[in-house]
Amino acid sequence: MAWFLRPDAFSAFENEEIRDTIPRYIRVVRREEPPLFRLTQRIFLDVGDDPWATHDEGLQILSKCVVEGGCPKEKRDGRTSLLELKALLAKDLLRECRLCEWKCGVNRLEGEIGVCRVRDSRVASAFIHMGEEAPITPSGTIFFTGCNFRCIFCQNWDISQFPESGKRVDERELASIMDELRRQGARNINLVGGEPTPNLPLIISSLNLVRENFPVVWNSNMYMSEEAMKLLLGLVDLWLPDFKYWNDECARKYSGIPRYRETVTRNLKMAYDYPPGEMVLRHLVLPGHLNCCTEPILRWISDNIPDILVNIMDQYRPEYRASKFDEINRRVTTEEMTRAYRLADELGLKWRSVS
Ligand code: SF4
Repeated sequence: MAWFLRPDAFSAFENEEIRDTIPRYIRVVRREEPPLFRLTQRIFLDVGDDPWATHDEGLQILSKCVVEGGCPKEKRDGRTSLLELKALLAKDLLRECRLCEWKCGVNRLEGEIGVCRVRDSRVASAFIHMGEEAPITPSGTIFFTGCNFRCIFCQNWDISQFPESGKRVDERELASIMDELRRQGARNINLVGGEPTPNLPLIISSLNLVRENFPVVWNSNMYMSEEAMKLLLGLVDLWLPDFKYWNDECARKYSGIPRYRETVTRNLKMAYDYPPGEMVLRHLVLPGHLNCCTEPILRWISDNIPDILVNIMDQYRPEYRASKFDEINRRVTTEEMTRAYRLADELGLKWRSVS
């Protein structure tokens, strides 16, 4: 296969800032360490009356394994693996769906649909993406249809707002897509959409079937419920979250989302605090939103999750329905980007190697 790799992707792992910030992810890419989902297959648990309490126990064991660099080999002895338990709990969340913070309460096992309108998991496309951040490229990217956001400037609106587009997949088909992408040379499996969250149960079941080892990248708006977030801990090797807004009014106006800030900051903190907590965070600078969004977001990162890579993105374009909103119906100016970069430098954020 002929690839046109972004030039810095070759040397990304030699960059000191990248090497020091996402070391475990790099070792998993190089097959020097197992991905987290493989460790969850080696932890066996007796599931009692409170499966979430058992899951918490499993997360504690796993966190020790990650910190100490491996899990002792155990016999199953009729017990359930942590990965199997995650799959069971994820499926159960579909019964009165609360996979994301909308907590619609619809029974998706019976075909009911909530805000995301996702009925069954569908893949719009899956390919080796050459345009992601340097340490992620070449990335085995899987685009799911449907989204729980309604961003008026969405660049993927043709799949995010049309959940019935794409090809319906079951767990075996999804596992084989993942394996094939890795065999073709992907550094990782990059789960995106639309939004991957409404597809979490299928994703977890598929990980239990894959043959290849690869780091899992969660490319998301981070609007998961706390329960879904806990299920992702111990599966995601590299978080690739968006942090778009600080001001909840902006989130409501441009993405139709309530309680954005409290949800996303809670989830980012959970992702960062659970080992290995490695992350490349994306902040898309919106025109005219330096004071209300960009600056407080960069300050929050510096105060709460400083040891991550930050991609400060200048590629906003007024696509989809954005032309109906005069104040963001333009590109970001050089002055606005310079202000954002200058503040990131003042705060000591690690942004230069990935922006
Ligand atoms: S994933 Fe979120 S938006 Fe979709 S049905 Fe479940 S709770 Fe609702």
